[in-house]
Amino acid sequence: MSDMVEKYRREVCELHGELIRWGLVAWTAGNVSARVPGTDLMVIKPSGVSYEDLTPESMVVCDLDGVPVDEGASPSSDTGSHAYVYRRRPDVGGVVHTHSPYATAWAATGEPIPCVITAMADEFGGEIPVGPFALIGDESIGEGIVETLEGSRSPAVLMRQHGVFSIGKDAKAAVKAAVMCEDVARTVHIAKQMGAVEPISGADVDSLFDRYQNVYGQKKGPAGAASRERAGAAEGKDD
Ligand SMILES: [Zn+2]
Repeated sequence: MSDMVEKYRREVCELHGELIRWGLVAWTAGNVSARVPGTDLMVIKPSGVSYEDLTPESMVVCDLDGVPVDEGASPSSDTGSHAYVYRRRPDVGGVVHTHSPYATAWAATGEPIPCVITAMADEFGGEIPVGPFALIGDESIGEGIVETLEGSRSPAVLMRQHGVFSIGKDAKAAVKAAVMCEDVARTVHIAKQMGAVEPISGADVDSLFDRYQNVYGQKKGPAGAASRERAGAAEGKDD
């Protein structure tokens, strides 16, 4: 058990480096968490600690009510919302939050990102929806995330006037969704400056999404070698 927790402390710590590498965060504004599989525990970033000072030991282990299980650093102020998502969505193993600039600009205008490029159909299966405005500090954001993503294939939601929350089968998948969300937010924004954009038809979105999910198998099957291989292929995806 403690080996598992250590593994996820390391993984969550390392994944914060990806937020920087992909330009998704300024200062300390962004966080990654992971469920420790088979337990009622999650691992999350400590509150207000700069990314270069993060260590596996400084990650905070909490129960699924968001309460730290040992003494030490306070967890991220978004912990209650991450915990809410894990309680309500047993399929979710990772949650990421950023204020990445283009996606957050869409959140500021309250406009969903329309599905106008194939990469969006592949990854999000449609538009990226907008969730309600909610104050930080309790579970309200978590409620908005779960409510908005119910009935949506998107692994990301633009919380109104706030930023991006993304989910995944594990923390790495949630980070990938946050990266892709910012990427398509930027591309679609640029496209709109150049002229009108046209949503891809529902049938084509379904077909692209199905192909991507089935050929590359991001979400399918048990965590066996074959599904890991397919997940690996998805990471190297190039249309
Ligand atoms: Zn935030």
